[in-house]
Amino acid sequence: MLYYSTNKKAPLATLEKAVVKGLAEDRGLYMPERIRQLPHEFFDNIDKLSFQEIAYTVAYAFFGEDVEADSLRKIVYDTLSFDCPIVNVTGNIYSLELFHGPTLAFKDVGARFMARLLQYFLKKENSSSEVNVLVATSGDTGSAVANGFLGVDGIHVYVLYPKGKVSKIQECQFTTLGQNITAIEVDGVFDDCQALVKNAFMDEELNNKLKLTSANSINVARFLPQAFYYFNAYARMKALGKADNFVICVPSGNFGNITAALFGARMGLPVKRFIAANNANDIVFNYLKTGNYNPKASIQTIANAMDVGDPSNFARILDLYGNSHERIVAHMGGATYTDDEIRQTMKKCYEENNYVLDPHGACGYQALKDLLKENEWGVFCETAHPAKFKDTVESAINTEITIPDRLAAFMQGKKQSVSMAKDFADFKAFLVDK
Ligand SMILES: *Cc1c(COP(=O)(O)O)cnc(C)c1O
Repeated sequence: MLYYSTNKKAPLATLEKAVVKGLAEDRGLYMPERIRQLPHEFFDNIDKLSFQEIAYTVAYAFFGEDVEADSLRKIVYDTLSFDCPIVNVTGNIYSLELFHGPTLAFKDVGARFMARLLQYFLKKENSSSEVNVLVATSGDTGSAVANGFLGVDGIHVYVLYPKGKVSKIQECQFTTLGQNITAIEVDGVFDDCQALVKNAFMDEELNNKLKLTSANSINVARFLPQAFYYFNAYARMKALGKADNFVICVPSGNFGNITAALFGARMGLPVKRFIAANNANDIVFNYLKTGNYNPKASIQTIANAMDVGDPSNFARILDLYGNSHERIVAHMGGATYTDDEIRQTMKKCYEENNYVLDPHGACGYQALKDLLKENEWGVFCETAHPAKFKDTVESAINTEITIPDRLAAFMQGKKQSVSMAKDFADFKAFLVDK
């Protein structure tokens, strides 16, 4: 299968090139040329299949032409070593808990899958030169990518994060690992980290010397596997007899996760409609309302993994619906919430349902509360474990929450990081000298 760029000015690419390069030459995002429909029988019997079996079928539809079946099966099974249960919160509203992976983030699946797929291609090429993955993070992406790539031969990961701007728990998750993971503490803000990474990708000299790639959700190998979650959610709801008029609500920032869900629908997954829940960064919400897409600088909120002012994957959504606002709004609604509303939602949901939401999941839950109809079944993604946002959650619900063992274990490790100014020349010299 070949991949085209959403900007339509770059040549078609193989899966291998799309994964190794990340972004197309014309700065567009890669899209698969075809999206395979899955047969009726698959959906008729899906409730009897395990998460891994379902995911393998979906992965085969995406990547089966380009990756040998045995290897693909191994990659999928290795990626999905944990469960993502559905929990009834109240009435017809269910939480799809996507935070049971190694770093308690839904990004674990895409990161691990990408690491394994990249490793597969490097082995096949018999390549001796190391691939360098650069990732700028404000928290969650860095930990998922670092843990997903930990110990994978032939790949070195550089995580750039802003000094003093990520939570202690998040910092521990990527600074204590060692091995092929280097954490770089940048004296600046998140945008400075991102600028260093972008400059590195554009620097010709550096790219001639080193193989560089990115591991954020622009990469097809990172965002597409997130579709597994939605097939599994449908299967588990079907087993409960609650899959008719099925509505999926995704708390969204860079829109990678919901785009994967929309790919699922295009493959035949019976979803009646989607809802994208935003925090105060309401750019897509406004697009849905008016048809005008006006990116702006991001606003800092308590649901900070969704603080995105110009979501990259929106280009994929436009492409998927032939740039038609009418077709998009027929399939996808939106919602937007202020920090005060998010706090209120966490408090009320805890008091009424005894269910602890994190600030991101709270946007999803509230959007279903506001928009779900009586004859529909709604599933929202709980995208992070509430303990990752301990202070915010505790002050909203006025109750202490416990930190899961897995998270606490990271906090025992020793911090190792390289301090760096936000100057590109320094970063470049550091990479070259390694
Ligand atoms: C990354 C993230 C999101 C947003 O996901 P996108 O795919 O960027 O839309 C939401 N919640 C949490 C906790 C995240 O880490």
